[in-house]
Parts: sequence; structure tokens; C-alpha cells
Amino acid sequence: MKRRTFLKTFPAAAALAATAGIVPIAVAADGHGAQVIAAQKFKVGDMVVTAISDGYFNMPLDMLQGAGPDDIAALLRQGYQDPENFRAAVNAYLVQSGGENWLIDAGTGGVFGPSLGDVAEVLAALGVMPGDVSKLIVTHMHGDHIGGAIKDGAAMYPNAELVVTKADVDFWTSKDIQAQAPEQFRGGFDLAMGVIAAYQDRVRIVEGEADLAPGLVGRPMPGHTVGHQGVMLESGSDSLLIWGDVVHVAPVQMARPEVTIGFDTDQELAAKTRADAFASVVQSGQKIAGMHMPFPGVGFVEKAGDGFRFVPASWDYM
Ligand SMILES: [Zn+2]
Repeated sequence: MKRRTFLKTFPAAAALAATAGIVPIAVAADGHGAQVIAAQKFKVGDMVVTAISDGYFNMPLDMLQGAGPDDIAALLRQGYQDPENFRAAVNAYLVQSGGENWLIDAGTGGVFGPSLGDVAEVLAALGVMPGDVSKLIVTHMHGDHIGGAIKDGAAMYPNAELVVTKADVDFWTSKDIQAQAPEQFRGGFDLAMGVIAAYQDRVRIVEGEADLAPGLVGRPMPGHTVGHQGVMLESGSDSLLIWGDVVHVAPVQMARPEVTIGFDTDQELAAKTRADAFASVVQSGQKIAGMHMPFPGVGFVEKAGDGFRFVPASWDYM
């Protein structure tokens, strides 16, 4: 999505989206990147879930650990991806239920450059203004999930309760841990502290399998961060497990769950959590969604050879 064109089309687009449920098409002036709004709706029981693309980042593949560069390139090619240009999705999910808007993760807010930061604009185009969001539920406090929670230091969602796990808050707001962290990760602590400060008395800290909202339960999935959680949505007989950052590079980590990424706080635990999650959802047939699964990031996990593969969900006609 090209930001300038998007802004140009936005007021009319938002009005249409709000009244008639029509999603506009933004056509870039240079002819590239013409794209229907980067959102896809589907139902989970009575809930309407909208996958929202924040954009993408060029994943530095040398961040992957536990497989050599040739192996990684081969796995990406097997997944029909270009190893020279692997773009990792950054997704967020809006849950609409009982007249409420709950946002699960906020995207980057542009913290990581111009190929990202679209969540709030896509929401607006869908007719959901920042003040309409009553809960911002955070899977973990990394910049690509909380960067979009603030704008110029203030809460991006002025009426939202910020729901975060105790383990992540304790970790990412600790000056002691920040001082011991490698240089390149220290800014992430400042960002987390800024987000907590911006939401002040609207911060709700949860632990374990907490009720996050009616029908939404937190699922501790530690490793990627100490307090990393998935969010289980249940409505009627339908359900969806939004698993946050269980997977970053699907073609590699689905096939080889033991491959970790340098952003994992605890590599070993992250790999175990991933293996456990795969085993569980394969066995149950649970539908999943993931913040770095290829947009819209919703589908199923199947056993494939010694590893697994991701099967995207088919289009939901609602
Ligand atoms: Zn992430």
C-alpha cells in the first residue's frame, strides 16, 4: 500500500466502509502496489475477525539459528519464496464482538520504516476510528506489536484498555535488564516503557490463562519473550488460536520447528513452545492465525514429512 495515495482516497473510503461495507481500492500514482485495502474479514462464531496487514519487513535471514544458510535457502525455495528477498508479514487482528472493537497487537506504528505502520490507517478505512477501540490486547512487547500503540508518545487508542502480560511488563520495563541487554535491543525497552506510560491507569496486567475479554482467553506461549501469549477466541462451537510470534519465517520454521530466531529471548523455550503448539493444533485441527504468517495469516497446520506445513484457510464468504 502506498501511503500517499491511501491518504488521498481515505475520507471517502472511510465513509463508504462505514455505511455500506464497501472496501475501496487505492491505486498508487506510479502504477505499482495497487491493492485492495490490506484487510480480510472472517467469522469465528458470532465474532467478526479482521486480519489487518501492517506491512512487511525484509527479514534478515542470518537471524535464524539452528540451520545453515544453504538449508534455509533450500527451505524457502521449497516454499516458493525467494531467499534473496524474503518479506515477513506483520499482521494484527481486529475482533468485533458484542458491539466492541478489540485490537490484538498494534503493528509497528512506523517504528521500523515505511514498508510498515499501516494498522491505524486500515482500521480507519474500515470505519474503526482510534477512539472506537476499547481493548488493545498485546501478545508481547516487541516493537512490531506495540510500536503502533503510541503516536508521538501518546496513546494511539485513547479509550482502549491496554492488556499485557505481567512477565513481559516486568521484563521490558526493567532498567536492570535493559542495561544488560545487547545494544541493539535496548531501544525496545524504552518503547515498552513509553507504551506503559502512555496508557497509565488503563493498563491491565494479566497472568496465566487470563480472561482477556468475553470469549478471549490468554494462552501463555513463552520463549519468544518471557511473557509471550497467544489469544484463544471461542464463540459457539467455533474457535481461533491467534498464536502471536510462534513462527517468524513460515517456510523454514514449519518444516524445521527447532530453528529459532535471534529475537527470541529464550531460544530453547521458544523452540519447545513452537513444537508443542504444532503438536497440539495438528492433533485438534485447531485453526490458527499468526502475526508473521503470510497475510492474512489464517489457516491450519499439517504434518509433512519430518516437519509440518501451513495450509491457508479458504476465503470466508461470511
Ligand atoms: Zn513479531
